[in-house]
Amino acid sequence: MEAPALETYDLENAASRPWRRELADAIRDPGELLALLGLDPERMGLGAEAQREFPLRVPRGYAARMRPGDPRDPLLLQVLPLASETDPAPGFSADPVGDLAAMAAPGLLHKYQGRALLVITGACAVHCRYCFRRHFPYGEANPAGEHWAESLAYIAARPEIDEVILSGGDPLSLPDRRLASMAGDLAAIPHLKRLRIHTRLPVVLPARVDHGLVRWLSRLARETALKPVVVIHANHPHEIDGAVAGAMKRLAGAGAVLLNQSVLLRGVNDDPETLAALSEALFAAGVLPYYLHRLDRVRGAAHFEVPDAEAEGIMTALRARLPGYLVPAFVCEEPGAPYKRPL
Ligand SMILES: *Cc1c(COP(=O)(O)O)cnc(C)c1O
Ligand code: SF4
Repeated sequence: MEAPALETYDLENAASRPWRRELADAIRDPGELLALLGLDPERMGLGAEAQREFPLRVPRGYAARMRPGDPRDPLLLQVLPLASETDPAPGFSADPVGDLAAMAAPGLLHKYQGRALLVITGACAVHCRYCFRRHFPYGEANPAGEHWAESLAYIAARPEIDEVILSGGDPLSLPDRRLASMAGDLAAIPHLKRLRIHTRLPVVLPARVDHGLVRWLSRLARETALKPVVVIHANHPHEIDGAVAGAMKRLAGAGAVLLNQSVLLRGVNDDPETLAALSEALFAAGVLPYYLHRLDRVRGAAHFEVPDAEAEGIMTALRARLPGYLVPAFVCEEPGAPYKRPL
């Protein structure tokens, strides 16, 4: 049967797209999540203020990969709002990587030669407690709407920019129609070679990689000069299950190059065994490890920090056990630096 045209999908009632339903049905109540896992909320150190400031959000399919009864589950720790987030933590700030100083137009960050990054939405399927943009002013710093022409003009005027990164928030939380329209405008800029998408959705809600998305990406790869690169975000091997591997296969089939970035997180992946297993699981799903980020010192995330000396030991052990192509570059982002500095 001939697949319906892209436009048919785009105009489809949002509720008929399973990923949209799953997104809308995400768990938002810490009590509900803990009940599902058979954990006692009284003993988890939940933070009401943390929940108010950056509420829990986790798709049910992702919660299903958490181990019931384990209060230290590495997936749970990434999403649970804790009281310790609001403890004073000197050196931890709202904008640890200097995003606001690098804003060339609303929502357009230009830090590195050759690459411009667009923060095209503040919406995510999951709220990661360590997110360095958890305090980002998404409302005013938005390159869409009235500011879109300004972003396009900025990129078009700079032939040295050959890659645009769609970021957020999670760019894949936008409808295909919006993505296709933005990518179409970008594809008309002759000096652009690559369109990169930084997204956690294929990991936390793999149903997002549906026929409509794959169709759009395949067209982009086939019919424009833009080579698609999809950089997913997984931190622990338990995040990669069969559904995620299937989503990766569909993205690769659409012609996208697949990479992963992770953050080194205390209690989640701060040992070489876990990181090696993550690299193996990614490779088995057709994804190469790209970056392992040192934690950005964002307010609320201090309890995730791994000291540099310890991180160095972990990286040394990782290099000793994996082929070089499965060892991510351990990098940190410093405000004003010309690239993410390898450590
Ligand atoms: C991380 C980042 C990039 C991408 O850097 P690469 O080293 O190319 O992956 C680009 N722009 C901004 C603003 C970034 O924060
Ligand atoms: S998905 Fe990405 S942007 Fe969204 S909260 Fe997690 S780390 Fe932040």
